[in-house]
Amino acid sequence: MKAIQVSQTGGPEVLQLVDLPVPQPKPNEAVIKIAACGVNFIDTYQREGRYKVPLPFVLGQEAAGTVSSVGSDVTSAKPGDHVAWTGILGTYAEYAAVPADRLVSIPQGVTDQQAAAALLQGMTAHYLIHDTFPLRRGQTALIHAAAGGVGALLVQMAHNIGTRVIATVSTEEKAKLARHAGADEVILYSHADFETETKRLTNNKGVDVVYDGVGKTTFEKGLNVLRPRGYMVLFGGASGPVPPFDLIQLSTKGSLFVTRPTLFHYMATTEELRARSSAVFQMMEDSKLELRIAHVYKLADAQQAHRDLEARKTTGKLLLLP
Ligand code: NDP
Repeated sequence: MKAIQVSQTGGPEVLQLVDLPVPQPKPNEAVIKIAACGVNFIDTYQREGRYKVPLPFVLGQEAAGTVSSVGSDVTSAKPGDHVAWTGILGTYAEYAAVPADRLVSIPQGVTDQQAAAALLQGMTAHYLIHDTFPLRRGQTALIHAAAGGVGALLVQMAHNIGTRVIATVSTEEKAKLARHAGADEVILYSHADFETETKRLTNNKGVDVVYDGVGKTTFEKGLNVLRPRGYMVLFGGASGPVPPFDLIQLSTKGSLFVTRPTLFHYMATTEELRARSSAVFQMMEDSKLELRIAHVYKLADAQQAHRDLEARKTTGKLLLLP
């Protein structure tokens, strides 16, 4: 089978198309013929070595497809089932072997491509909004990179709750998408100072929560726009990792909270994984969550997908098709 392997860490050029044997299922696993796999920012961190993975490895941790075979102990899936999964490395490939208890069934009204596009970013937006900082109607949230994969879903979910959303984006085109997703205010943080603008938009009261997947370039100013006892939810570092900082700042800036969550801990059990994925699929089926599959590449073009994502050229979701 074809797969995209990383044998040494580095730029997009280290993504190599290779031939590997089709995996065989262990007793607890299913083997899935992949129809579509999601491209996520975490893939770039693993490719470049910011997040360490033993070499060599097949990149990617989100996909959907059809079960082709199952191990002897598997009763929850059978050949022909449409399933999706996330959090298990090796999805930039034509086939993958996955523990059956990490698979979720794709509902009838959802296509394999939609499922591959929804799972990682959809469940991320869901846990950030419902569990990390449970947003309520009437609160105000600042959401960075609001036209991106996770960002656009966060905006929609926050808007549906009745939260006032202040969004940041880098271009006018992205501003339109953020407004379409439900943002009440949009700041072009590439041109305007988002700290000044957010203070102005909140009459210096500050926001209840900042959802920050941008990191290095936004974190510090984000602390300055929180209301006293507000929450900084730092969930990524698209612009680079946040440097170490002195915890006393949390006190002087208003007894603030900072958390650095990851999806893995919010889908750790099979029950939580299935409940959260069902909630996301249900929102899609009820037309409460619009997925924008904006960029579709062949598996062999994984390098280009990474170049586009890192150059801030993309909006919404990127998929690779084996
Ligand atoms: P996005 O589609 O959001 O792409 C990243 C966006 O970040 C860009 O489009 C860009 O938007 C913005 N950005 C700002 N500065 C930079 C920069 N220097 N280089 C590149 N991009 C920049 O990606 P994802 O939706 O896949 O991921 C968003 C974030 O969420 C990432 O940090 C990712 O690691 C994190 N994440 C965390 C999870 C968790 O559980 N903790 C799970 C899933 C994702 P603009 O041009 O508008 O600034």
